[in-house]
Amino acid sequence: MSQNVYQFIDVQRIDPRKKPIDTRKIEFVEIYEPFTEKEASAQADRCLDCGNPYCEWKCPVHNYIPQWLKLANEGRILEAVELSHQTNSLPEVCGRVCPQDRLCEGDCTLNDDFGAVTIGNVEKYITDKAFEMGWKPDMSHVEWTDKKVAVIGAGPAGLACADVLVRNGVKPVVFDRYPEIGGLLTFGIPSFKLEKEVMRNRQRIFTEMGVEFRLNTEVGKDVAMQTLIDEFDAVFLGVGTYKYMRAGLANEDAPGVFDALPFLVSNTYKVMELKNAPPFIDMAGKRVVVLGGGDTAMDCVRTSIRQQAASVTCAYRRDEANMPGSRREVKNAREEGVNFMFNLQPLGIEVDENGNVRGVTVVKTQLGEPDAAGRRRPEPIEGSEHVLEADAVIMAFGFQPHAMEWLEPYDVALDERGRIKAPAKGDILYQTTNPKIFAGGDAVRGSDLVVTAIDEGRKAAEGIMHYLEV
Ligand code: FAD
Ligand code: SF4
Repeated sequence: MSQNVYQFIDVQRIDPRKKPIDTRKIEFVEIYEPFTEKEASAQADRCLDCGNPYCEWKCPVHNYIPQWLKLANEGRILEAVELSHQTNSLPEVCGRVCPQDRLCEGDCTLNDDFGAVTIGNVEKYITDKAFEMGWKPDMSHVEWTDKKVAVIGAGPAGLACADVLVRNGVKPVVFDRYPEIGGLLTFGIPSFKLEKEVMRNRQRIFTEMGVEFRLNTEVGKDVAMQTLIDEFDAVFLGVGTYKYMRAGLANEDAPGVFDALPFLVSNTYKVMELKNAPPFIDMAGKRVVVLGGGDTAMDCVRTSIRQQAASVTCAYRRDEANMPGSRREVKNAREEGVNFMFNLQPLGIEVDENGNVRGVTVVKTQLGEPDAAGRRRPEPIEGSEHVLEADAVIMAFGFQPHAMEWLEPYDVALDERGRIKAPAKGDILYQTTNPKIFAGGDAVRGSDLVVTAIDEGRKAAEGIMHYLEV
Protein backbone atom coordinates (compact mmCIF):
# COMPACT_ATOMS: atom_id res chain seq x y z
CA MET A 1 0.00 0.00 0.00
CA SER A 2 1.10 3.55 -0.51
CA GLN A 3 2.89 5.24 2.39
CA ASN A 4 0.99 8.42 1.55
CA VAL A 5 -1.85 8.71 4.08
CA TYR A 6 -3.55 11.30 1.87
CA GLN A 7 -3.71 8.93 -1.08
CA PHE A 8 -7.53 9.10 -0.97
CA ILE A 9 -7.29 12.86 -1.68
CA ASP A 10 -4.46 12.77 -4.20
CA VAL A 11 -6.14 9.98 -6.16
CA GLN A 12 -9.81 10.68 -6.75
CA ARG A 13 -12.43 7.99 -6.89
CA ILE A 14 -13.03 6.96 -10.47
CA ASP A 15 -15.59 4.57 -11.85
CA PRO A 16 -14.72 2.56 -14.94
CA ARG A 17 -15.29 4.34 -18.24
CA LYS A 18 -18.62 3.73 -19.92
CA LYS A 19 -18.95 2.76 -23.58
CA PRO A 20 -20.14 5.54 -25.94
CA ILE A 21 -23.83 6.26 -25.66
CA ASP A 22 -24.55 5.42 -29.32
CA THR A 23 -23.15 1.93 -28.81
CA ARG A 24 -24.89 1.52 -25.46
CA LYS A 25 -28.28 2.25 -26.98
CA ILE A 26 -28.16 -0.66 -29.39
CA GLU A 27 -25.90 -3.30 -27.85
CA PHE A 28 -26.61 -5.98 -25.29
CA VAL A 29 -23.10 -5.93 -23.81
CA GLU A 30 -21.83 -4.61 -20.48
CA ILE A 31 -21.60 -0.83 -20.56
CA TYR A 32 -18.49 -0.48 -18.36
CA GLU A 33 -14.95 -0.96 -19.63
CA PRO A 34 -12.86 -3.02 -17.19
CA PHE A 35 -10.34 -1.26 -14.92
CA THR A 36 -6.76 -1.38 -16.16
CA GLU A 37 -4.19 -2.89 -13.80
CA LYS A 38 -2.97 0.59 -12.95
CA GLU A 39 -6.47 1.93 -12.25
CA ALA A 40 -7.42 -1.05 -10.07
CA SER A 41 -4.21 -0.74 -8.09
CA ALA A 42 -4.59 3.03 -7.58
CA GLN A 43 -8.26 2.80 -6.62
CA ALA A 44 -7.55 -0.03 -4.17
CA ASP A 45 -4.82 2.12 -2.66
CA ARG A 46 -7.42 4.73 -1.64
CA CYS A 47 -8.59 2.39 1.16
CA LEU A 48 -7.73 3.92 4.55
CA ASP A 49 -7.69 0.52 6.25
CA CYS A 50 -9.65 2.36 8.90
CA GLY A 51 -9.49 -0.31 11.57
CA ASN A 52 -13.24 -0.80 11.87
CA PRO A 53 -14.21 -1.72 8.33
CA TYR A 54 -17.80 -0.55 8.06
CA CYS A 55 -17.78 -1.74 4.43
CA GLU A 56 -17.13 -5.29 5.58
CA TRP A 57 -19.92 -5.18 8.16
CA LYS A 58 -22.37 -3.81 5.62
CA CYS A 59 -21.49 -6.37 2.94
CA PRO A 60 -24.02 -9.21 3.44
CA VAL A 61 -21.32 -11.90 2.98
CA HIS A 62 -18.82 -9.91 5.09
CA ASN A 63 -16.10 -9.90 2.47
CA TYR A 64 -12.54 -9.24 3.73
CA ILE A 65 -12.59 -6.01 1.77
CA PRO A 66 -9.59 -4.03 3.13
CA GLN A 67 -7.41 -7.16 2.92
CA TRP A 68 -8.16 -7.93 -0.71
CA LEU A 69 -7.95 -4.26 -1.64
CA LYS A 70 -4.40 -4.29 -0.25
CA LEU A 71 -3.55 -7.45 -2.21
CA ALA A 72 -5.02 -5.92 -5.39
CA ASN A 73 -2.99 -2.78 -4.85
CA GLU A 74 0.17 -4.88 -4.59
CA GLY A 75 -0.72 -6.88 -7.71
CA ARG A 76 -1.09 -10.11 -5.66
CA ILE A 77 -4.16 -11.18 -7.64
CA LEU A 78 -4.03 -14.90 -6.95
CA GLU A 79 -3.93 -14.32 -3.19
CA ALA A 80 -6.70 -11.74 -3.50
CA VAL A 81 -8.98 -14.09 -5.45
CA GLU A 82 -8.44 -16.93 -2.96
CA LEU A 83 -9.34 -14.59 -0.12
CA SER A 84 -12.42 -13.22 -1.83
CA HIS A 85 -13.69 -16.77 -2.45
CA GLN A 86 -13.49 -17.52 1.26
CA THR A 87 -16.66 -15.46 1.75
CA ASN A 88 -18.27 -15.16 -1.68
CA SER A 89 -19.12 -17.80 -4.26
CA LEU A 90 -19.66 -15.35 -7.16
CA PRO A 91 -17.50 -12.25 -6.51
CA GLU A 92 -17.32 -11.28 -10.19
CA VAL A 93 -21.14 -11.20 -10.25
CA CYS A 94 -21.48 -9.15 -7.05
CA GLY A 95 -18.84 -6.72 -8.29
CA ARG A 96 -21.08 -6.12 -11.30
CA VAL A 97 -24.62 -6.10 -9.89
CA CYS A 98 -24.60 -5.34 -6.15
CA PRO A 99 -26.14 -1.95 -5.33
CA GLN A 100 -22.82 -0.89 -3.78
CA ASP A 101 -24.10 2.61 -3.01
CA ARG A 102 -26.50 1.02 -0.50
CA LEU A 103 -24.05 -1.65 0.72
CA CYS A 104 -20.25 -1.71 1.05
CA GLU A 105 -19.47 1.62 -0.66
CA GLY A 106 -22.36 3.38 1.09
CA ASP A 107 -20.67 2.62 4.42
CA CYS A 108 -17.09 3.37 3.32
CA THR A 109 -15.52 5.95 5.67
CA LEU A 110 -14.55 8.07 2.65
CA ASN A 111 -18.04 8.04 1.16
CA ASP A 112 -19.48 11.39 2.22
CA ASP A 113 -16.54 13.71 1.77
CA PHE A 114 -14.03 12.13 -0.59
CA GLY A 115 -15.87 9.49 -2.62
CA ALA A 116 -16.03 5.85 -1.48
CA VAL A 117 -13.40 3.37 -2.60
CA THR A 118 -14.67 1.63 -5.76
CA ILE A 119 -14.99 -1.68 -3.93
CA GLY A 120 -17.34 -3.43 -6.35
CA ASN A 121 -15.24 -2.73 -9.41
CA VAL A 122 -12.03 -3.86 -7.71
CA GLU A 123 -13.81 -7.08 -6.64
CA LYS A 124 -14.84 -7.66 -10.26
CA TYR A 125 -11.33 -6.82 -11.47
CA ILE A 126 -9.69 -9.33 -9.10
CA THR A 127 -11.86 -12.26 -10.21
CA ASP A 128 -11.84 -11.43 -13.94
CA LYS A 129 -8.07 -10.97 -13.88
CA ALA A 130 -7.53 -14.22 -11.96
CA PHE A 131 -9.63 -16.14 -14.50
CA GLU A 132 -7.62 -14.50 -17.29
CA MET A 133 -4.49 -15.79 -15.54
CA GLY A 134 -5.92 -19.32 -15.58
CA TRP A 135 -6.85 -19.45 -11.89
CA LYS A 136 -9.41 -21.95 -10.68
CA PRO A 137 -10.30 -23.15 -7.19
CA ASP A 138 -7.81 -25.69 -5.83
CA MET A 139 -9.74 -28.85 -4.99
CA SER A 140 -6.69 -31.08 -4.42
CA HIS A 141 -7.10 -31.08 -0.64
CA VAL A 142 -10.80 -32.04 -0.68
CA GLU A 143 -11.63 -35.31 1.05
CA TRP A 144 -14.78 -36.67 -0.54
CA THR A 145 -17.57 -37.97 1.68
CA ASP A 146 -20.23 -40.42 0.47
CA LYS A 147 -22.97 -37.78 0.84
CA LYS A 148 -24.89 -36.14 -1.97
CA VAL A 149 -27.34 -33.26 -1.96
CA ALA A 150 -30.00 -32.28 -4.50
CA VAL A 151 -30.01 -28.53 -5.09
CA ILE A 152 -33.21 -27.26 -6.74
CA GLY A 153 -32.49 -24.01 -8.59
CA ALA A 154 -29.25 -22.86 -10.25
CA GLY A 155 -29.70 -19.23 -9.14
CA PRO A 156 -27.21 -17.53 -6.83
CA ALA A 157 -28.63 -19.27 -3.72
CA GLY A 158 -28.39 -22.76 -5.25
CA LEU A 159 -24.96 -22.13 -6.77
CA ALA A 160 -23.55 -20.76 -3.50
CA CYS A 161 -24.91 -23.76 -1.61
CA ALA A 162 -23.36 -26.13 -4.18
CA ASP A 163 -20.04 -24.24 -4.02
CA VAL A 164 -19.67 -24.67 -0.25
CA LEU A 165 -20.84 -28.29 -0.34
CA VAL A 166 -18.44 -29.37 -3.07
CA ARG A 167 -15.49 -27.65 -1.38
CA ASN A 168 -16.31 -29.80 1.66
CA GLY A 169 -16.50 -33.08 -0.22
CA VAL A 170 -20.30 -33.30 -0.44
CA LYS A 171 -21.55 -33.97 -3.98
CA PRO A 172 -24.13 -31.43 -5.17
CA VAL A 173 -26.45 -32.20 -8.07
CA VAL A 174 -28.14 -29.00 -9.24
CA PHE A 175 -31.52 -29.18 -11.00
CA ASP A 176 -32.92 -26.26 -12.99
CA ARG A 177 -35.78 -25.96 -15.43
CA TYR A 178 -33.83 -23.50 -17.58
CA PRO A 179 -31.22 -24.56 -20.18
CA GLU A 180 -28.49 -22.41 -18.53
CA ILE A 181 -27.39 -21.84 -14.94
CA GLY A 182 -27.75 -18.51 -13.13
CA GLY A 183 -31.46 -18.18 -12.33
CA LEU A 184 -32.27 -14.47 -12.52
CA LEU A 185 -28.58 -13.74 -13.20
CA THR A 186 -29.16 -15.25 -16.64
CA PHE A 187 -32.94 -15.13 -17.11
CA GLY A 188 -33.65 -11.72 -15.57
CA ILE A 189 -30.67 -9.39 -15.28
CA PRO A 190 -29.86 -8.22 -18.84
CA SER A 191 -26.44 -8.57 -20.41
CA PHE A 192 -25.75 -4.82 -20.36
CA LYS A 193 -25.32 -5.34 -16.57
CA LEU A 194 -23.95 -8.89 -16.59
CA GLU A 195 -22.78 -10.56 -19.77
CA LYS A 196 -23.98 -14.10 -20.24
CA GLU A 197 -20.46 -15.46 -20.68
CA VAL A 198 -19.79 -14.72 -16.98
CA MET A 199 -22.19 -17.46 -15.88
CA ARG A 200 -21.12 -19.84 -18.63
CA ASN A 201 -17.56 -19.52 -17.34
CA ARG A 202 -18.81 -20.24 -13.80
CA GLN A 203 -20.63 -23.32 -15.07
CA ARG A 204 -17.34 -24.66 -16.46
CA ILE A 205 -15.56 -23.88 -13.18
CA PHE A 206 -18.25 -25.46 -10.98
CA THR A 207 -18.43 -28.54 -13.21
CA GLU A 208 -14.65 -29.03 -12.97
CA MET A 209 -14.96 -28.69 -9.19
CA GLY A 210 -17.40 -31.62 -9.14
CA VAL A 211 -20.83 -29.94 -9.21
CA GLU A 212 -23.23 -31.82 -11.47
CA PHE A 213 -25.88 -29.84 -13.36
CA ARG A 214 -29.12 -31.34 -14.61
CA LEU A 215 -30.57 -28.50 -16.68
CA ASN A 216 -33.86 -28.43 -18.61
CA THR A 217 -35.18 -30.41 -15.64
CA GLU A 218 -38.11 -29.07 -13.66
CA VAL A 219 -38.70 -30.65 -10.29
CA GLY A 220 -42.35 -31.65 -9.95
CA LYS A 221 -42.61 -32.13 -13.75
CA ASP A 222 -39.52 -33.80 -15.23
CA VAL A 223 -38.35 -35.35 -11.98
CA ALA A 224 -40.46 -36.09 -8.88
CA MET A 225 -39.60 -34.55 -5.53
CA GLN A 226 -39.95 -38.05 -4.05
CA THR A 227 -37.08 -39.26 -6.27
CA LEU A 228 -34.83 -36.55 -4.83
CA ILE A 229 -35.91 -37.38 -1.27
CA ASP A 230 -35.16 -41.08 -1.90
CA GLU A 231 -31.88 -40.68 -3.79
CA PHE A 232 -30.19 -37.82 -1.91
CA ASP A 233 -29.10 -37.26 1.69
CA ALA A 234 -30.60 -33.74 1.78
CA VAL A 235 -32.41 -31.31 -0.53
CA PHE A 236 -31.84 -27.54 -0.87
CA LEU A 237 -34.62 -25.33 -2.25
CA GLY A 238 -33.29 -22.24 -4.03
CA VAL A 239 -36.36 -21.80 -6.19
CA GLY A 240 -36.76 -18.01 -6.10
CA THR A 241 -40.06 -16.08 -6.29
CA TYR A 242 -41.90 -16.17 -9.59
CA LYS A 243 -45.43 -14.86 -9.03
CA TYR A 244 -45.67 -11.52 -10.83
CA MET A 245 -47.34 -8.79 -8.78
CA ARG A 246 -50.18 -6.94 -10.48
CA ALA A 247 -51.92 -3.69 -9.57
CA GLY A 248 -55.44 -4.93 -10.34
CA LEU A 249 -55.88 -2.36 -13.14
CA ALA A 250 -58.76 -2.49 -15.64
CA ASN A 251 -57.66 -4.17 -18.92
CA GLU A 252 -54.33 -5.33 -17.51
CA ASP A 253 -54.54 -8.52 -19.60
CA ALA A 254 -55.11 -6.61 -22.87
CA PRO A 255 -52.81 -7.35 -25.83
CA GLY A 256 -49.81 -5.04 -25.51
CA VAL A 257 -49.56 -5.33 -21.72
CA PHE A 258 -46.64 -7.46 -20.56
CA ASP A 259 -45.21 -8.67 -17.27
CA ALA A 260 -41.59 -7.63 -16.80
CA LEU A 261 -39.96 -11.02 -16.50
CA PRO A 262 -41.39 -12.73 -19.62
CA PHE A 263 -40.31 -9.62 -21.56
CA LEU A 264 -36.74 -9.80 -20.21
CA VAL A 265 -36.56 -13.59 -20.55
CA SER A 266 -37.71 -13.54 -24.18
CA ASN A 267 -34.98 -11.00 -24.89
CA THR A 268 -32.39 -13.22 -23.18
CA TYR A 269 -33.34 -16.23 -25.30
CA LYS A 270 -32.82 -14.06 -28.38
CA VAL A 271 -29.50 -12.58 -27.21
CA MET A 272 -28.20 -16.03 -26.24
CA GLU A 273 -29.68 -17.65 -29.37
CA LEU A 274 -31.19 -20.41 -27.24
CA LYS A 275 -33.45 -23.14 -28.59
CA ASN A 276 -37.12 -23.58 -27.58
CA ALA A 277 -37.45 -19.84 -27.06
CA PRO A 278 -40.73 -18.34 -25.83
CA PRO A 279 -42.38 -15.85 -28.25
CA PHE A 280 -40.12 -12.79 -28.66
CA ILE A 281 -41.62 -9.59 -27.21
CA ASP A 282 -40.38 -6.82 -29.47
CA MET A 283 -40.58 -3.12 -28.54
CA ALA A 284 -39.09 -1.83 -31.83
CA GLY A 285 -40.88 1.31 -32.99
CA LYS A 286 -43.30 1.31 -30.02
CA ARG A 287 -44.09 3.93 -27.41
CA VAL A 288 -43.36 1.98 -24.25
CA VAL A 289 -44.53 2.82 -20.73
CA VAL A 290 -42.97 0.88 -17.86
CA LEU A 291 -44.83 0.96 -14.54
CA GLY A 292 -42.63 0.55 -11.44
CA GLY A 293 -39.42 2.02 -10.02
CA GLY A 294 -37.17 -0.89 -8.96
CA ASP A 295 -34.23 -2.64 -10.61
CA THR A 296 -36.59 -4.75 -12.72
CA ALA A 297 -38.23 -1.60 -14.11
CA MET A 298 -34.78 -0.16 -14.92
CA ASP A 299 -33.87 -3.36 -16.78
CA CYS A 300 -37.12 -3.17 -18.77
CA VAL A 301 -36.70 0.46 -19.83
CA ARG A 302 -33.08 -0.08 -20.85
CA THR A 303 -33.94 -3.27 -22.76
CA SER A 304 -36.71 -1.39 -24.60
CA ILE A 305 -34.23 1.34 -25.57
CA ARG A 306 -31.88 -1.29 -27.01
CA GLN A 307 -34.74 -2.89 -28.93
CA GLN A 308 -35.20 0.53 -30.63
CA ALA A 309 -38.50 1.56 -29.05
CA ALA A 310 -39.83 4.87 -30.40
CA SER A 311 -39.98 6.26 -26.85
CA VAL A 312 -39.57 4.82 -23.36
CA THR A 313 -41.21 6.28 -20.25
CA CYS A 314 -40.88 5.06 -16.69
CA ALA A 315 -43.86 6.07 -14.55
CA TYR A 316 -43.39 5.76 -10.81
CA ARG A 317 -45.85 6.58 -8.01
CA ARG A 318 -43.36 8.13 -5.58
CA ASP A 319 -40.63 10.73 -6.15
CA GLU A 320 -37.11 10.03 -7.37
CA ALA A 321 -35.61 10.01 -3.86
CA ASN A 322 -37.99 7.21 -2.85
CA MET A 323 -37.32 4.96 -5.84
CA PRO A 324 -36.21 1.50 -4.74
CA GLY A 325 -33.96 1.01 -7.79
CA SER A 326 -30.20 1.55 -7.67
CA ARG A 327 -29.22 5.22 -8.26
CA ARG A 328 -26.53 4.08 -10.68
CA GLU A 329 -29.06 2.28 -12.89
CA VAL A 330 -31.47 5.25 -12.90
CA LYS A 331 -28.60 7.47 -14.04
CA ASN A 332 -27.63 4.99 -16.75
CA ALA A 333 -31.24 4.75 -17.94
CA ARG A 334 -31.54 8.52 -18.13
CA GLU A 335 -28.30 8.80 -20.14
CA GLU A 336 -29.66 6.23 -22.57
CA GLY A 337 -32.79 8.30 -23.24
CA VAL A 338 -35.44 7.05 -20.80
CA ASN A 339 -38.02 9.63 -19.80
CA PHE A 340 -38.84 9.47 -16.07
CA MET A 341 -42.20 10.62 -14.75
CA PHE A 342 -42.51 10.67 -10.98
CA ASN A 343 -45.48 10.90 -8.62
CA LEU A 344 -47.83 9.17 -11.06
CA GLN A 345 -50.07 6.32 -10.00
CA PRO A 346 -51.64 4.08 -12.68
CA LEU A 347 -55.44 3.82 -12.52
CA GLY A 348 -56.22 1.69 -15.55
CA ILE A 349 -55.07 0.51 -18.98
CA GLU A 350 -56.81 2.17 -21.92
CA VAL A 351 -57.60 0.08 -25.00
CA ASP A 352 -58.62 0.96 -28.58
CA GLU A 353 -61.66 -0.33 -30.44
CA ASN A 354 -59.85 -3.63 -31.14
CA GLY A 355 -59.03 -4.14 -27.47
CA ASN A 356 -55.31 -3.35 -27.90
CA VAL A 357 -53.52 -1.15 -25.41
CA ARG A 358 -53.44 2.55 -26.30
CA GLY A 359 -52.32 4.08 -23.01
CA VAL A 360 -52.39 4.18 -19.24
CA THR A 361 -54.63 6.44 -17.17
CA VAL A 362 -52.59 7.90 -14.34
CA VAL A 363 -53.24 10.29 -11.49
CA LYS A 364 -50.67 12.61 -9.96
CA THR A 365 -49.65 11.84 -6.39
CA GLN A 366 -48.16 13.67 -3.45
CA LEU A 367 -46.30 11.96 -0.63
CA GLY A 368 -48.25 11.57 2.63
CA GLU A 369 -47.51 9.92 5.97
CA PRO A 370 -44.91 7.11 6.17
CA ASP A 371 -46.20 3.52 5.93
CA ALA A 372 -45.19 0.62 8.24
CA ALA A 373 -41.85 0.33 6.40
CA GLY A 374 -41.15 4.05 6.96
CA ARG A 375 -41.66 5.04 3.30
CA ARG A 376 -44.00 7.94 2.62
CA ARG A 377 -47.27 6.78 1.13
CA PRO A 378 -48.26 8.27 -2.27
CA GLU A 379 -51.69 9.96 -2.14
CA PRO A 380 -53.65 10.76 -5.34
CA ILE A 381 -54.34 14.41 -6.19
CA GLU A 382 -57.97 14.74 -7.17
CA GLY A 383 -58.67 16.00 -10.69
CA SER A 384 -55.16 15.30 -12.00
CA GLU A 385 -56.08 12.16 -13.99
CA HIS A 386 -54.71 11.97 -17.54
CA VAL A 387 -53.66 9.37 -20.13
CA LEU A 388 -50.09 8.48 -21.06
CA GLU A 389 -50.26 7.22 -24.61
CA ALA A 390 -48.56 3.88 -25.22
CA ASP A 391 -48.36 1.00 -27.69
CA ALA A 392 -46.93 -1.30 -25.02
CA VAL A 393 -47.11 -1.29 -21.22
CA ILE A 394 -44.74 -3.30 -19.04
CA MET A 395 -45.71 -4.08 -15.44
CA ALA A 396 -42.69 -4.14 -13.15
CA PHE A 397 -44.31 -4.27 -9.71
CA GLY A 398 -42.11 -7.00 -8.25
CA PHE A 399 -42.49 -10.64 -7.32
CA GLN A 400 -44.06 -12.82 -4.65
CA PRO A 401 -43.49 -16.48 -3.79
CA HIS A 402 -45.16 -18.79 -6.30
CA ALA A 403 -47.26 -21.86 -5.41
CA MET A 404 -45.43 -25.21 -5.49
CA GLU A 405 -47.91 -28.11 -5.44
CA TRP A 406 -45.05 -30.59 -5.74
CA LEU A 407 -43.74 -29.49 -2.34
CA GLU A 408 -47.06 -29.77 -0.50
CA PRO A 409 -46.74 -33.42 0.68
CA TYR A 410 -43.39 -32.77 2.35
CA ASP A 411 -44.37 -30.74 5.45
CA VAL A 412 -42.39 -27.65 4.47
CA ALA A 413 -44.10 -24.81 6.35
CA LEU A 414 -44.63 -21.42 4.70
CA ASP A 415 -45.17 -18.06 6.39
CA GLU A 416 -48.21 -15.84 5.89
CA ARG A 417 -46.64 -14.38 2.70
CA GLY A 418 -45.92 -17.79 1.19
CA ARG A 419 -42.19 -17.70 1.92
CA ILE A 420 -40.53 -20.94 2.98
CA LYS A 421 -39.80 -20.97 6.71
CA ALA A 422 -36.10 -21.71 7.11
CA PRO A 423 -34.61 -19.84 10.09
CA ALA A 424 -31.30 -18.02 9.83
CA LYS A 425 -30.65 -18.66 13.51
CA GLY A 426 -30.38 -21.84 15.55
CA ASP A 427 -28.22 -24.97 15.45
CA ILE A 428 -28.98 -26.00 11.91
CA LEU A 429 -29.13 -22.97 9.65
CA TYR A 430 -31.84 -22.68 7.00
CA GLN A 431 -33.44 -26.03 7.80
CA THR A 432 -37.17 -26.12 6.95
CA THR A 433 -39.81 -27.86 9.05
CA ASN A 434 -38.85 -31.03 7.16
CA PRO A 435 -35.40 -31.87 8.62
CA LYS A 436 -34.08 -33.24 5.32
CA ILE A 437 -35.05 -30.11 3.36
CA PHE A 438 -33.20 -26.78 3.51
CA ALA A 439 -33.94 -23.50 1.72
CA GLY A 440 -32.49 -20.04 1.06
CA GLY A 441 -32.51 -16.99 -1.19
CA ASP A 442 -35.59 -15.18 -2.48
CA ALA A 443 -37.83 -18.18 -1.68
CA VAL A 444 -37.08 -17.65 2.02
CA ARG A 445 -36.58 -13.88 2.40
CA GLY A 446 -38.79 -12.68 -0.46
CA SER A 447 -37.39 -10.97 -3.58
CA ASP A 448 -34.16 -9.30 -2.60
CA LEU A 449 -30.59 -9.27 -3.87
CA VAL A 450 -28.03 -11.52 -5.47
CA VAL A 451 -25.59 -11.13 -2.57
CA THR A 452 -28.19 -11.99 0.10
CA ALA A 453 -29.16 -15.10 -1.88
CA ILE A 454 -25.48 -16.09 -2.01
CA ASP A 455 -25.15 -15.54 1.71
CA GLU A 456 -28.14 -17.74 2.51
CA GLY A 457 -27.07 -20.48 0.08
CA ARG A 458 -23.65 -20.62 1.73
CA LYS A 459 -25.08 -20.70 5.24
CA ALA A 460 -27.64 -23.35 4.27
CA ALA A 461 -24.74 -25.50 3.05
CA GLU A 462 -23.24 -25.22 6.53
CA GLY A 463 -26.61 -26.24 7.98
CA ILE A 464 -26.75 -29.22 5.64
CA MET A 465 -23.24 -30.33 6.63
CA HIS A 466 -24.16 -30.02 10.29
CA TYR A 467 -27.27 -32.15 9.64
CA LEU A 468 -25.26 -34.74 7.69
CA GLU A 469 -22.52 -34.68 10.34
CA VAL A 470 -19.72 -34.22 7.81
P1 FAD B 1 -33.38 -17.14 -8.61
O1 FAD B 1 -32.24 -16.33 -9.11
O2 FAD B 1 -34.75 -16.74 -8.98
O3 FAD B 1 -33.11 -18.63 -9.04
C1 FAD B 1 -34.09 -19.63 -8.82
C2 FAD B 1 -33.87 -20.74 -9.83
O4 FAD B 1 -34.71 -21.85 -9.45
C3 FAD B 1 -34.28 -20.37 -11.24
O5 FAD B 1 -33.23 -20.66 -12.14
C4 FAD B 1 -35.49 -21.25 -11.53
O6 FAD B 1 -35.55 -21.66 -12.89
C5 FAD B 1 -35.21 -22.44 -10.63
N1 FAD B 1 -36.41 -23.21 -10.28
C6 FAD B 1 -37.52 -22.77 -9.63
N2 FAD B 1 -38.38 -23.79 -9.47
C7 FAD B 1 -37.81 -24.89 -10.03
C8 FAD B 1 -38.22 -26.24 -10.17
N3 FAD B 1 -39.41 -26.69 -9.71
N4 FAD B 1 -37.37 -27.10 -10.79
C9 FAD B 1 -36.18 -26.68 -11.27
N5 FAD B 1 -35.75 -25.40 -11.17
C10 FAD B 1 -36.56 -24.53 -10.54
N6 FAD B 1 -30.29 -8.21 -7.49
C11 FAD B 1 -29.13 -7.53 -7.35
O7 FAD B 1 -28.41 -7.74 -6.35
N7 FAD B 1 -28.72 -6.63 -8.29
C12 FAD B 1 -29.44 -6.42 -9.42
O8 FAD B 1 -29.04 -5.60 -10.26
C13 FAD B 1 -30.65 -7.12 -9.60
N8 FAD B 1 -31.37 -6.96 -10.72
C14 FAD B 1 -32.49 -7.69 -10.89
C15 FAD B 1 -33.19 -7.57 -12.08
C16 FAD B 1 -34.32 -8.33 -12.30
C17 FAD B 1 -35.04 -8.19 -13.60
C18 FAD B 1 -34.81 -9.20 -11.30
C19 FAD B 1 -36.07 -9.99 -11.51
C20 FAD B 1 -34.13 -9.33 -10.11
C21 FAD B 1 -32.96 -8.59 -9.90
N9 FAD B 1 -32.22 -8.73 -8.73
C22 FAD B 1 -31.05 -8.03 -8.58
C23 FAD B 1 -32.63 -9.68 -7.67
C24 FAD B 1 -31.82 -10.99 -7.77
O9 FAD B 1 -31.71 -11.39 -9.10
C25 FAD B 1 -32.49 -12.09 -6.93
O10 FAD B 1 -32.66 -11.62 -5.61
C26 FAD B 1 -31.65 -13.37 -6.91
O11 FAD B 1 -31.40 -13.85 -8.21
C27 FAD B 1 -32.33 -14.45 -6.08
O12 FAD B 1 -31.58 -15.63 -6.15
P2 FAD B 1 -32.25 -17.07 -5.92
O13 FAD B 1 -31.18 -18.05 -6.16
O14 FAD B 1 -32.94 -17.07 -4.61
O15 FAD B 1 -33.40 -17.19 -7.00
FE1 SF4 C 1 -19.83 -4.85 -1.94
FE2 SF4 C 1 -21.52 -6.71 -2.87
FE3 SF4 C 1 -18.88 -7.09 -3.03
FE4 SF4 C 1 -20.09 -7.17 -0.64
S1 SF4 C 1 -20.39 -8.59 -2.34
S2 SF4 C 1 -18.16 -6.13 -1.17
S3 SF4 C 1 -21.71 -5.61 -0.92
S4 SF4 C 1 -20.03 -5.49 -4.09
